[in-house]
Amino acid sequence: MTSAAQTCDIAIIGGGLVGASLAVALAPLNLRIVLIEATPPPRGAPSWDERCIALNAASQQIVAGLGLWDALRPSAVPILSTHISERGRFGVARFTAEQAGLPALGYNVPIRAIGAVFADAAAKTSMQTLMPAKLKSLLPAGDVVRLGVNTQEGEIELQAQLVIAADGARSTVRELLGIGAETRDYQQSAIVTAIRPQRAHRGVAYERFLPSGPLAVLPKPDDAQGQACSLVWTVASENCAGYLALDDEQFLAAAEDAFGERLGRFTALGRRVAYPLERVISERLSAPRVLFLGNAAQSLHPVAAQGFNLGLRDVANLAEVLAEPGDRGTSERLARYEAQRERDRARVAGFTDGLVRLFSNAVPGLRALRHLGLLALDLTPPLKQAVLQQNLGYGASVPALARRHG
Ligand SMILES: Cc1cc2nc3c(=O)[nH]c(=O)nc-3n(C[C@H](O)[C@H](O)[C@H](O)COP(=O)(O)OP(=O)(O)OC[C@H]3O[C@@H](n4cnc5c(N)ncnc54)[C@H](O)[C@@H]3O)c2cc1C
Repeated sequence: MTSAAQTCDIAIIGGGLVGASLAVALAPLNLRIVLIEATPPPRGAPSWDERCIALNAASQQIVAGLGLWDALRPSAVPILSTHISERGRFGVARFTAEQAGLPALGYNVPIRAIGAVFADAAAKTSMQTLMPAKLKSLLPAGDVVRLGVNTQEGEIELQAQLVIAADGARSTVRELLGIGAETRDYQQSAIVTAIRPQRAHRGVAYERFLPSGPLAVLPKPDDAQGQACSLVWTVASENCAGYLALDDEQFLAAAEDAFGERLGRFTALGRRVAYPLERVISERLSAPRVLFLGNAAQSLHPVAAQGFNLGLRDVANLAEVLAEPGDRGTSERLARYEAQRERDRARVAGFTDGLVRLFSNAVPGLRALRHLGLLALDLTPPLKQAVLQQNLGYGASVPALARRHG
């Protein structure tokens, strides 16, 4: 380890979607920021993969507030309505942008495009990036935290006023501090790929609940015919390898059978990638001079497409808390961040988990209840408005960045 430790105001651990967006959000504060990311370029952070992210309306506002929406817009397909159904049941819930009084309920964007836009913007800031570099040790020491980081040049020591853990569901920071997490293995995996259905999607995001888990078909950009969709199919983990081993024709036929006939035949296919699904909720959002956000704070099932949207609201709230000058790592600031995030976090984590459990259960009484629930949701305006506001990202406290362009 080098003798003279480098000092900085803020060390961000993890340069995934959340760490990168935080770096951009903090740029106007002119702080000395060091971002540490384990995965080497050119692929960059591992989250820059095959997935699309459904950005909700509040997230779109946050991205616009960061000055990045114009760069992202060409890669974004508007979601004009959602259609939620359950296999074998008549009940359907529909939400439209018109009901919300918005041009779109949200936008589906390839994660690679979000990654590229945020990485370009972060590169233009004065932030220092250590990549590939891995956090190895962490020791709170009075007014600073001492960090040991493995880089290609050897191990270096850093001192930061505040450490922000954006290092994902298996957070090293959490582990080094001995903070526990509530985990639940859903024993489900999401298979993600691209398809082109016979009929145009017309901006509709479909979600169909099956006994094995939800299957979503969402509008996808990057297609000359304007008909591509991304397929997110949740299957029991024990059957996942079998689905991955099918040839394209067999896989498409199985997906079509699971989804039903609404969009006609599925005719084209991209690469298939599977993600095991688990819920990981950190027992704490802070420790002395340390904060957790994004998946390091809460990693959720993708059923309601809430994970990154929630992480972006973490970022927006934290940028507000850190805006005032002075020591950025005081316990008062940390407490303020926690208080602002508590309700939103609990609500979204509870809503997401409840949805998975309700629809994964094959008990007959529950099925009838779900059926009634879907119908009630479609027929009861106040209930529908409440769920709609939640899905748009306006369910709890709304950070200023999410309101700025409203
Ligand atoms: C199938 C699927 C579909 C999804 N769809 C949606 C959606 O439509 N909408 C939505 O809002 N969300 C969605 N999500 C959730 C979303 O992908 C995540 O919430 C988001 O990517 C989390 O980003 P993050 O930066 O917090 O964590 P991560 O992406 O996990 O990034 C953590 C980073 O930290 C780095 N790191 C880890 N340890 C160290 C260390 N010791 N030192 C240095 N660096 C380290 C890692 O290399 C990584 O780059 C989906 C998730 C899945 C699985």
